[in-house]
Amino acid sequence: MGTETEERKFVRLPTFLERGFLDLRNAVIAQRICCLCGTCAAFCYKIDILEGEGGKIEPKFIEEYDTVCGQCYAYCPRTFLPQSEIERRIFGDEGKGAERDILGVYRSFYAVRSKKEDILKRAQDGGAVTSLLAYALDEGLIDCAVITTSDAEWKPLTKVARTYEELKEGAGTKYTLYPGVIGVRDAIKGGCEAIGFVGLPCQIQGLRKVQTAEQPYDVGITKVKLLIGLFCMDNFTEALLDFVVKQCAGGSLEGVSKFEIRDKDLLVYEKDKEEKHRIPLDEVKSYVGAGCLVCMDYTAELADISIGSVGSEEGWSTVFARTEIGEEVVRGALEKGYIEVMKIERAGLESIRRLAKKKKESGMQRST
Ligand SMILES: Cc1cc2nc3c(=O)[nH]c(=O)nc-3n(C[C@H](O)[C@H](O)[C@H](O)COP(=O)(O)OP(=O)(O)OC[C@H]3O[C@@H](n4cnc5c(N)ncnc54)[C@H](O)[C@@H]3O)c2cc1C
Repeated sequence: MGTETEERKFVRLPTFLERGFLDLRNAVIAQRICCLCGTCAAFCYKIDILEGEGGKIEPKFIEEYDTVCGQCYAYCPRTFLPQSEIERRIFGDEGKGAERDILGVYRSFYAVRSKKEDILKRAQDGGAVTSLLAYALDEGLIDCAVITTSDAEWKPLTKVARTYEELKEGAGTKYTLYPGVIGVRDAIKGGCEAIGFVGLPCQIQGLRKVQTAEQPYDVGITKVKLLIGLFCMDNFTEALLDFVVKQCAGGSLEGVSKFEIRDKDLLVYEKDKEEKHRIPLDEVKSYVGAGCLVCMDYTAELADISIGSVGSEEGWSTVFARTEIGEEVVRGALEKGYIEVMKIERAGLESIRRLAKKKKESGMQRST
């Protein structure tokens, strides 16, 4: 019997046993609420993310015999999400001095811009993600970061970055669903002992479930030390890329330098061209991932640090430090000259709250 504090460390999830991949398939994949985060495949070698019927990419069982160990079902962010239990575990007493509102628990928030020119050149917004990871790596708080890069045609890829130069390859937003959590498996296999991860709210939820589950298995999750979550209203299937190719990219996305969602448009920037293509979001709504429609988390509420663009001026990132380690990283990066910070104005904060509320309401409506 542990002390009260020890007991609070783990979330008592419904049973691990007697729930196998078939249950996951029935409850999540067949219901079309899989968000393709990759958590199930990251921690079970019997699952892979493969092309299924009609070219749809989804988790597949690749062994003959299902041991019904229950991991995939317990880790999936779409089976059940004991949010307050997980918050209690991650924020614990620190949560007491922090704010708690529709944006989740947070200790501080800032508008952030990188002070590294080479990062700013490639970054989506203020380069906060890449700069904070660079600080954490240089200080030895992490020994690698799992990031999402892409191929020349903008298809996402996962990478275990171990150097500053490798970190920069992740800069920029890829608006395509991708099971990035599998990069954590690669990092563990590759011998990393202190892993940083950047990903979407659903991916952070999956990793937090693995971290906080009272479980009989050692899956190496204690090696994950820092979670940076991105704001996310929607993500899209690869069909979006095909649509953009047809619409404005002349047969290939190789010439595209950046995608950006601003207000009601998807902006497509081309290398060395001032002008950008503007595609109304209404025209690409049908490519939003089915599993995104039930999501209620806009700001990655369970991350150590959450980062987005809304709320700050163009060229800056909005950063919420939620945990002690999160705040330590932001403060340290500021002190050591990796980033500069500005106050977020009230109107900025209100616009984030408005979007967070919108996502909660639409997610709730669609899940009932
Ligand atoms: C699908 C998606 C939807 C988003 N929606 C919103 C939104 O509605 N509102 C908002 O304010 N911000 C949104 N963002 C976040 C925003 O686009 C920027 O990522 C954020 O502001 C950080 O910018 P930065 O310059 O600090 O990051 P950078 O320094 O440029 O680093 C970007 C990081 O994002 C990671 N990344 C890129 N694409 C993906 C991906 N598909 N999956 C996982 N990780 C990825 C990379 O690993 C990299 O480390 C979204 C991001 C994504 C990926």
